[in-house]
Amino acid sequence: MDKRFDKVIKEINRGKKFLAVSHVSPEGDAIGSLLGITLALRSIGKDVTAYLEDPVPKMFDFLPGAETIVHTLDGAGAFDATFAVDCGQKERLGKGFIALKGPGSIINIDHHATNDRFGDVNVIEPDASAAGELVYDLIKAASINMTLDIATNLYVAIHTDTGSFRYSSATADAFMKAGELVRIGVSPWEISRRIYENYPARKYVLLGMVLPTLDIINLDGGKSIAILAVTLEMFRKAGAEKDLADGFVNYARGIEGVEVGMLLREISANEYKVSMRSKGGVDVAEVTGYFGGGGHRNAAGCTLKGSLEDVKARIMGVIKEKTFATEKA
Ligand code: AMP
Ligand code: MN
Repeated sequence: MDKRFDKVIKEINRGKKFLAVSHVSPEGDAIGSLLGITLALRSIGKDVTAYLEDPVPKMFDFLPGAETIVHTLDGAGAFDATFAVDCGQKERLGKGFIALKGPGSIINIDHHATNDRFGDVNVIEPDASAAGELVYDLIKAASINMTLDIATNLYVAIHTDTGSFRYSSATADAFMKAGELVRIGVSPWEISRRIYENYPARKYVLLGMVLPTLDIINLDGGKSIAILAVTLEMFRKAGAEKDLADGFVNYARGIEGVEVGMLLREISANEYKVSMRSKGGVDVAEVTGYFGGGGHRNAAGCTLKGSLEDVKARIMGVIKEKTFATEKA
């Protein structure tokens, strides 16, 4: 018996009206986990409001249940309990949630090592490849039937957070669960086609502007850092939404000899959302943590204010000082 979810299952049995939430700028794991738990609870007769502060990126709008996600909690009233999935800090659930008067017990289900355990009940497992793996385990522990719609959402959660099963997070458990979801009827090619073979052409127009910004900074010891930048001006010129820059950071990390790849994405004038990706030698969550962000060892993010050059300099300062300090000494 899986004991980790005993308290969660008690909350499920006790409640009727639930809220499910995930983080701002949602990606595959946030949306897949949110909809997985939402559909599972609805299937046993619970009233569930699924809330995201930000819109669902177009590449994920095919997910079963996505059409029921709401983006405001005005007039929502009180809930018996709230499921927060894939989110390390309460503030990242968005302004609408923070302003909500009656979330009930907060059930925090997450896999970020940087999670600050903001829930009344916390199931935090940094070893899980995706929050979707934990929702999978919860559904099994609660003996809820895994429908194809739930399976599709959880498959996408695991698939996207493991980088299509390429990252070190792609454990035997992740493969085993994904395999089980495929057995239920999820089609890997259908999912890949919808997510990765369906980009609007303007994503490539934007990429064409971003690649020339490549800046490679060589550090002592032969390692280097690669930085790409995308500005508001580029988004405007390409007619592209902000989420179309998702994934560009991988071009930076993908370079030979590069230890950390970075994408600096201007989200408002002189404010940058920073995405960092490491090959494993540097804990980028430690670097983003210094700036109030979070994430995982190999993938982390934070937001910084200032000019592009200023933001770059501050980040490089921390990387050089904190991360390579021990090796230099
Ligand atoms: P991203 O670069 O946005 O794909 O994020 C990589 C990882 O870092 C994800 O696990 C995010 O949840 C986490 N992350 C990104 N931005 C932040 C932030 N501002 N605060 C905390 N965690 C973040
Ligand atoms: Mn995740």
